[in-house]
Amino acid sequence: FNDRKNSFGPNIEIESEWTPFKAKIAPFMGQDTQWRAFPIVGGEKVATGQTHSIASPYDHSQTAGQIDWADAATVTKAIDLAEAAFPAWSARPATERADCLDKMADLMEENYAELMALCHREAGKTIQDSIDEVREAVDFCRYYAQQARSHFANPTRYTDFLGQEKQAKLNGRGVFTCISPWNFPLAIFTGQVVAALVVGNTVVAKPAEQTSLIASRAVEMLHQAGVPTDVLHLLPGDGATVGAPLTSDKRIAGLAFTGSTGTAQLINRTLAARGVAPVPIIAETGGQNAMLVDSTSLPEQVVRDAVRSAFASAGQRCSALRVLFVQADIADRVIPMIKGAMAEQSVGLPYLHSTDVGPVIDKKAQKMLLDHIEYMKANAKLIAQTDLPDFAEKGTFVAPTAFEINSIDQLTDEKFGPILHVVRYKARDLDKIIDTINNSGFGLTMGVHSRNETTCARIASRARVGNLYINRDQVGAVVGVQPFGGQGLSGTGPKAGGPHYLQRFAIEQDL
Ligand code: GLU
Repeated sequence: FNDRKNSFGPNIEIESEWTPFKAKIAPFMGQDTQWRAFPIVGGEKVATGQTHSIASPYDHSQTAGQIDWADAATVTKAIDLAEAAFPAWSARPATERADCLDKMADLMEENYAELMALCHREAGKTIQDSIDEVREAVDFCRYYAQQARSHFANPTRYTDFLGQEKQAKLNGRGVFTCISPWNFPLAIFTGQVVAALVVGNTVVAKPAEQTSLIASRAVEMLHQAGVPTDVLHLLPGDGATVGAPLTSDKRIAGLAFTGSTGTAQLINRTLAARGVAPVPIIAETGGQNAMLVDSTSLPEQVVRDAVRSAFASAGQRCSALRVLFVQADIADRVIPMIKGAMAEQSVGLPYLHSTDVGPVIDKKAQKMLLDHIEYMKANAKLIAQTDLPDFAEKGTFVAPTAFEINSIDQLTDEKFGPILHVVRYKARDLDKIIDTINNSGFGLTMGVHSRNETTCARIASRARVGNLYINRDQVGAVVGVQPFGGQGLSGTGPKAGGPHYLQRFAIEQDL
């Protein structure tokens, strides 16, 4: 089934459907268009002199623009202003704050061509991924606006067992830090920031170093949408100069983070070491995601969904499939079909309609993935490797690769890229396999392919994951439809794009 929402434009199936969109994006695609971004503090762009060029992942001789990184004084000033702005912003009616989010959604829809060009040029995202990116950012704004109107605009009334009336209200907590990743540079950045804002918090936001240009456009649009300039500040830069003070400052009243499990643990320790009142951390982190396929499944559907889950977005999603468990009885049918499907994939320039898989984000990511492929070639059985284009060495491409391994225990940590591992299993070992997956400590997504309802129910009740997908792919959670988030090493919850998310950014207070 197709549960994707059409926030803007059609789902692009064929080149001719794409043509009118392409014409609008084209003016932003030439090298003569360069974005120039800075820390934005109190609405001012702060030239710090620490200027970094952002190279396009598909061709490092091309740039998308330049960004100045924040220095220590800029970070302190942003927190000072955010703290001072909190009382007035949190006193505004929630409906007014929600109006800003709806306006932000409108602005992103109006500016989709520029935002998509930034997704291509700064993040190396394919056409479909760029459409989905803007759509998800729009959906976060509309969904959280609607949630805020329902739950934050009026106090909740209770009557206790003695008949006494009580009222409680959800309010903002103070200055919120938002730290977001490069793999959803607009959607997750915007989602975190607008969630914190709509509840009544003020925000200091640190985007990923690799994708600060699109974040800077998002902040400009949020200010245009009515968020006061002293309420939201953008602090591009690295972990040491920006991330550290945004975590260690005693005034930070809560923190939203999406990224690696290791960084989430460091953030948690730093927040605790401040010696002030504990504050909420909302973390979405990594996964070691599996798909379980039994002998009643439809092989064609399995292959379509496994290939998309493993290789779409060049495997750079927390939700992506890393380990495909195929029941031994059908493995000799399914594995050659995976090989066939991988040969059909096209790795190439992300802004071409013919491309299925684009580049990975940067050289560091590419090296880590190539090292893993090298290691696996020596220690596992290669199933298939998709061809790379001639120009691959101009950028950071990694060929989608699949290996057969004996057990998930052969994998130590998450490899964030287009590498799939396949394990054959015997039907009688199913429970043991689910326990092994649970024992990895991660619990983000799981896919199941089976036409046996009892098997599906058994897996669903035993697996400890945030998002379980049955007879479909396991990436591309839709806001408000599949709230997204994990458990254990995969994150704290509550799920982004779900009905309980905003409450975690708030404080509950009697009236
Ligand atoms: N929500 C995304 C999905 O379902 C993944 C988010 C992430 O990679 O952080 O594919």
